[in-house]
Amino acid sequence: MPIREVAEALRIIREQIEPTSPVDVPLSPASVGAIAAEDVQADLDSPPFDKALMDGYAVRADDARARPNLCVVAEIRAGDSPAASIVSGESARIFTGAPIPGGADAVVKQEQVEVLPDGTIRLHVDVLATGRNILKRGGEMTAGQVVISRGTRLTPAYLGLAAGLGRTAIRTYPIPQVALICTGDEIVEANGPRADGQIRNTNGPMLAALTAQAGAEPNYLGIVGDDRDRLAEVITYGLKTASMLILSGGVSVGKYDHIPEVLATIGVTTHFHQVRMKPGKPLLFGTKGAVPVFGLPGNPVSSFVCFQLFVKPALGRLTGDLAGTQSYSAILGAALRTNNDRPTYHPALLRLNACVLTVTPLPWLGSADLRAFSRAEALIVLPAGEFVGVAGDVVTVIPFEPIPRMDAS
Ligand code: AMP
Ligand code: MG
Repeated sequence: MPIREVAEALRIIREQIEPTSPVDVPLSPASVGAIAAEDVQADLDSPPFDKALMDGYAVRADDARARPNLCVVAEIRAGDSPAASIVSGESARIFTGAPIPGGADAVVKQEQVEVLPDGTIRLHVDVLATGRNILKRGGEMTAGQVVISRGTRLTPAYLGLAAGLGRTAIRTYPIPQVALICTGDEIVEANGPRADGQIRNTNGPMLAALTAQAGAEPNYLGIVGDDRDRLAEVITYGLKTASMLILSGGVSVGKYDHIPEVLATIGVTTHFHQVRMKPGKPLLFGTKGAVPVFGLPGNPVSSFVCFQLFVKPALGRLTGDLAGTQSYSAILGAALRTNNDRPTYHPALLRLNACVLTVTPLPWLGSADLRAFSRAEALIVLPAGEFVGVAGDVVTVIPFEPIPRMDAS
């Protein structure tokens, strides 16, 4: 199987992963962050009638210019049905949210109105434009208009908007259930005894947390040793219960790296194995039916970078978020000199100040140095070969968190 370029690998993942079938979910805080799988239309004009935006008096704008003294013929409160109307020389006391009476075309706020002893009113306005302090029927939205379009990530305001349309549920893509298996004879859990030569499981907690952070639900199935039969058993169970399977370790070319072979025996189709990148070269991607399978390299940094670059956008696709990995141009904050045989993803800090995105490389000892990555906020994408960057140079970065209102490059 040929080694793939990062862009090729991402294309293959895009081609192989379809959004999962949508379901109706009740509008609750838990649905914030889900992606709408339907176009939601307004069922009514909003507002459903011409509406007062101020407490004051509904008048005819022409009248207000000609005769500043008007009699008050009605009082209209929010919730009253839009029945009243006025003619020239009349006004109606009105409150915010109430329907504008027929014949009126402006609202004068009460601070600009003097109530005279005889109950008439005098307006203290120099000019009164038609439509002043009125939100016209349908001004916000008209019946039939698509207000929440398919593909929109739900925010609290969208929940409010949907409720305003009379909706109690909305069709969204379900949260992916991700089975997670760590492999390796030498790996032990942090809470267990550790003999010389054994390695504590960093990938389990880290990948579970990355999965949760990406909006999916991790289901950690534990550590499995480098044993083909046992691997096949646990992987088969994972595939049955999950919408994505993530494996850590055992995916390289060593004698005890059984994952590629085990996946083949249980009917997983491998779409690529090995990507020209550093860290993360041994990465494997396959599918069994609609379930994507990632074999991440056991090296914690490699696992982390592969998750950010490949697993995150794959989870996005499962939930209808087709945006993919976003990269940006940023200013290098300090000199960086590297020489790599493969394109390299270097940990860095990221700052956005006055619209300038500055990226500062972190000292990094290579694939085994998770400590450098624990502070990182972004990856600097470096080409293969020698790279000599000085402060002020423009480089490409992949942030771990989305950057609002920045154009992706
Ligand atoms: P592998 O991909 O299985 O060849 O593992 C590569 C390196 O990562 C080895 O040094 C492993 O001991 C280490 N490693 C594998 N899995 C984990 C894990 N879950 N936590 C920490 N280190 C791991
Ligand atoms: Mg191993």
